[in-house]
Amino acid sequence: MNQRAETALNFIEDSKAMLEKVSDQLWDYAEVALKEHHSARYLADALENEGFDVQRGLADLPTSFLATWGDGEPVIGFLAEYDALSGLSQEAVPYRKERPGTDNGHGCGHNLLGTAILGAVLGLKQQMIEEGMTGTIRFYGCPAEENLSGKAFMAREGLFDDCDACLTWHPGAVNRVRRSSSLANNAMNIEFFGQAAHAAGDPHNGRSGLDAVQLMNMGVEFMREHMSSLARIHYVITDGGRQPNVVPDYAKVWYLVRAPQRDEVDSLYQRVLDCARGAAIMTGTKYQVQLLKAIWNLLPNRTLEHVLSEAMEQVGPPDFSKASHQFAEAISQTFEPGRKESFLLGQNLTQRQRKILEPKILNDILLDAPASPLEPRGSTDVGDVSWCCPTAQFTMACNALGTPGHSWQFVAQAGANVGREGMIAAAKVLAQAGYRLLQAPNLRRRVGEEFACRTEGRLYRSAMPKDQKPAFDQFR
Ligand SMILES: [Zn+2]
Repeated sequence: MNQRAETALNFIEDSKAMLEKVSDQLWDYAEVALKEHHSARYLADALENEGFDVQRGLADLPTSFLATWGDGEPVIGFLAEYDALSGLSQEAVPYRKERPGTDNGHGCGHNLLGTAILGAVLGLKQQMIEEGMTGTIRFYGCPAEENLSGKAFMAREGLFDDCDACLTWHPGAVNRVRRSSSLANNAMNIEFFGQAAHAAGDPHNGRSGLDAVQLMNMGVEFMREHMSSLARIHYVITDGGRQPNVVPDYAKVWYLVRAPQRDEVDSLYQRVLDCARGAAIMTGTKYQVQLLKAIWNLLPNRTLEHVLSEAMEQVGPPDFSKASHQFAEAISQTFEPGRKESFLLGQNLTQRQRKILEPKILNDILLDAPASPLEPRGSTDVGDVSWCCPTAQFTMACNALGTPGHSWQFVAQAGANVGREGMIAAAKVLAQAGYRLLQAPNLRRRVGEEFACRTEGRLYRSAMPKDQKPAFDQFR
């Protein structure tokens, strides 16, 4: 067995109260994409006070930062997120109750995510001091994961290129290394500009932006038959006019285009834009495209995943209290019947793992990584980092089995002890894995060789055009 990072693990254990306070503060701020001013400052200040060198506002993103400690090689990066979601205001109680004064909530638990990374780097720093180790640890403060993909802008600037490895995690319901890839993804707004008119008095003088949106969407619906079955396209009409008796001179639709490979998204994206162009021609309107994000699929690194697996074995699963079990139990009472079962079915578990988890409310054991990865489903901007340097991640249980992502139940648990207990375990795993990487040059070499082998002939180039600015006005 590898050596345990005792100093780091003890430091995290002894710093529980401080880390929980940080997590609760981020949960309380609940700031959405590119508005995470308080959250970013709070974390960056905490790191600066601990002797980290902090650079703020990198890559055109005022709420990004990079905190560095140590010197020279190797360089181990840790990816932190801290953005919330709008429309998910919720108190930290096991029943539906909106939190007054905010529309936002941590429905993806990024308050836990960012705080565990803080615990990991602070613990690792103590371990390095204790042993007189050389090397650099970096805390990447990555804003806007949910919608605008801050890491893609940071990767465009080359901020991850010189890392030997980057590690991260995500709060979830199971304790397991993540092995699936993710879908490459473009997001864009398309606006149509027409001519307003009285809808009954002189409709012949009107040109409807809403007609254009509907025709564009119809074109895309017909495209679905002629694209790969793993590709995904979804849209919402964010402005469809004000009232039916006025021909809408303006309409806006927000699109996501996803596929397993980056070039597949490039080509689908062009086809969707063709639908917009066609709709504009048909309706006599003009249109304008605003690219919101363009991110890569996740490139796995099995060697690095193995490092995380070993670290999880050494640290163990979260130590859930009785009160957390009760909280999670109350949360799971709010699920529709069959929710947990269908969740477990979708988790790529072995028959045996499923049988063990079925009677449980919380996943309080470690699960082996799946033998073969599931086909990719969601998207993450960790994908861009994974093409710049070897990258791996895991999930740690922070909520009841069956908790839907981006739900009020997720928000409630991210603000309660159950989430905090999972977060502490995650911080320890990250510190342990970081320690192992700092210690073992041969292991780092193998991680690097796998990366070189997987990227051969396909070098990363940001899918965000060089001059494309972040969409600061997408969220209020
Ligand atoms: Zn998330």
